[in-house]
Amino acid sequence: MNVIIFGPPGAGKGTQAHNIVKKFNLYQISTGDLLRNEVKNQTTIGKDIENIISKGDFATDEIVNELIKNEIFNPKNKNKLIFDGYPRSLSQAKNLDSLLNKSNQKIDFIFFLNVKKNTIINRIEKRKLLEKRTDDNLTTILKRYDTYMETTKPVLDFYSKKANFYEIDGDAKIDEISRKIEQILSV
Ligand code: AMP
Repeated sequence: MNVIIFGPPGAGKGTQAHNIVKKFNLYQISTGDLLRNEVKNQTTIGKDIENIISKGDFATDEIVNELIKNEIFNPKNKNKLIFDGYPRSLSQAKNLDSLLNKSNQKIDFIFFLNVKKNTIINRIEKRKLLEKRTDDNLTTILKRYDTYMETTKPVLDFYSKKANFYEIDGDAKIDEISRKIEQILSV
């Protein structure tokens, strides 16, 4: 099966994706991790996007779509994908549909982690201490939230009409959220 975990920054997408990977033997694709890797390795893409990520802006669709394509067409990932942080715009969502079609795959479950803005701020402030990400400061958090609301909200409208869309209370405890997701995936 292929799964999308969707929601604002700090919603817990990475944490939940990580948990599902372990329980259901899937492969997590985090575009944020893929992009941070490019920055860490100082590739051509990495040098271009370093500033963009630090400011809380989005990398271009062109860059992200190319990174995603490699993962989708990798035979070892086929029908084992969890998308974490992708798609983040309507054009990315359409690109994803097209890439999955071309590789004879589809999305089986879409989870939307719905979280209040205050919860996000508290969570990211905590994560900052643990992960030391350059984009985890209050100004950037607020910017990332606004970018999410502007660009990613249309993706939510697009997916929420689908039969395999599940909205989850992302303010709940991590274990509780995991249990709900596992229940749905196990049916
Ligand atoms: P994340 O780890 O998902 O919070 O992503 C961290 C940052 O990477 C985001 O704030 C964006 O700057 C960039 N990023 C991650 N995924 C995408 C995407 N699908 N499209 C554009 N930029 C992205």
